[in-house]
Amino acid sequence: MDHLIRFLAENSHIKYATPSSPEFDSLRLGYILVENVIPAIIVRPQSAEDVAALVSVLTSNDLPFSIRVGGHDLSGRSQVHGAVTIDLRDIAYIHVDDAAHTARLGGGVLIADLIKELEHHGMVTPTGTIPSVGYVGWAAHGGYGFLSTQYGFGADQILGARVVDCHGQILDANEDMLTAIRGAGGLLGVIVEVTIKVYPLDKVLAGVIIYESTDLAATIKHYNDQYRQMKSEGFPSALSLYQSVLNGPTGKAVTILFAWASSDIDAGWKWLHKLQAWSPVALSTVAPTTMASFTLASEQVVPKHAYGTMFTVSVYELTPEIVDVICQYALLHPNDPSTFLGMHELRSCTPQPSADSVVCARSPHFMFEIGATAQARDMVDGAIEWGRALHGALLQSQPENIIPSTYLPLTEPALVDIKAIYGNKFEFLRNVKQQYDPRNVFKHALVQL
Ligand SMILES: Cc1cc2nc3c(=O)[nH]c(=O)nc-3n(C[C@H](O)[C@H](O)[C@H](O)COP(=O)(O)OP(=O)(O)OC[C@H]3O[C@@H](n4cnc5c(N)ncnc54)[C@H](O)[C@@H]3O)c2cc1C
Repeated sequence: MDHLIRFLAENSHIKYATPSSPEFDSLRLGYILVENVIPAIIVRPQSAEDVAALVSVLTSNDLPFSIRVGGHDLSGRSQVHGAVTIDLRDIAYIHVDDAAHTARLGGGVLIADLIKELEHHGMVTPTGTIPSVGYVGWAAHGGYGFLSTQYGFGADQILGARVVDCHGQILDANEDMLTAIRGAGGLLGVIVEVTIKVYPLDKVLAGVIIYESTDLAATIKHYNDQYRQMKSEGFPSALSLYQSVLNGPTGKAVTILFAWASSDIDAGWKWLHKLQAWSPVALSTVAPTTMASFTLASEQVVPKHAYGTMFTVSVYELTPEIVDVICQYALLHPNDPSTFLGMHELRSCTPQPSADSVVCARSPHFMFEIGATAQARDMVDGAIEWGRALHGALLQSQPENIIPSTYLPLTEPALVDIKAIYGNKFEFLRNVKQQYDPRNVFKHALVQL
């Protein structure tokens, strides 16, 4: 550690905080409140060159380190007790190329900052539902979210990347490295920059629909019956629907995030009216807006931190059997505002990726986010018990409907099966890891082979 402290003294533009620094606790904070993981020091490089120099100092002195940006890993895996945290949040530049429809951004950019900048250019790109998530952590591990039905996964937007490798060198990722980065994140190094696809789109029709849910199970069942029926007739790719059950302003309710991503707003209203006719609506905020305003609005309602964890399972279809399980556990849903069940959908209209990746869950499916999280510390055990039981019941209800590959960022560490997650891409990943990081310098990356 003395070598690192000396290095930091010689490079005073690299900010850092130790556990005795006043800003340490706020810098350490992530979405999941983990009290017993205290890094030895948090360093804040200002450039790719700083990251490269840090990786060299750390590896040559055998100091363990992890990479952190938005801090939204559900198991707090971006910080390690007693290790060095490299916090990339100051590497947050965003350059949009309006003509090429691309954006080049620093590895520490948050989704909130990206979508605000894209809005200035009349552009959008798929992102997750929560703006405080780090963009690279989201996209490079797969990236489910708004606009995926229209433009694909987050990983499919990555055109290029700059990486600090295990020797502390800054490299432009070659095709093999890029394939690995599209789904396996920081397996091969620190991603200090990505170039991504962006799309011209000014206005969208978007907002939240909360259905009247006095009889919660009946509302869930009814929504899904209607959904199944309408899906068989075909949904347009411009329509994103994120179904959730959560404790909102009207109590426990079926809550839909609705986004119509097309400049043909009139067609969007027609779809909205169809959806609103499915069941009585208690509250709707859907209106012409921008993707950025819609996504940023969640900052007002979604808690910034929570205790607990998340469980996930992916199913091919939301069959009546799966919906029955959801109904059963909705009735047992704890009353905490952070406990929720949400469902991302990958629909058959999703465009095929134009470049190779290691994301192998490509068939149409639903990815469940079981938020076994709680605002109140005394609610967390109940939330975890509920989440675990719901997860188990979903797995058991229809084994043939379950996708073997789970979504790594949301998979509880004890349940991670890397071979199942990466399927036929696993051997490729093993080979590139052996080639580019044979000593496993990046041993605290999410993907451990
Ligand atoms: C409330 C909430 C909502 C979420 N919603 C969605 C959603 O809608 N869709 C979805 O797909 N996922 C979602 N997630 C999961 C989230 O996208 C992943 O956990 C993502 O990895 C978080 O990135 P981060 O930078 O915020 O977190 P961190 O904890 O800082 O990082 C997560 C992992 O990514 C690595 N990493 C991050 N940036 C880099 C980089 N530049 N170089 C190398 N490694 C890096 C870290 O080392 C760590 O292993 C959600 C999570 C939460 C808590």
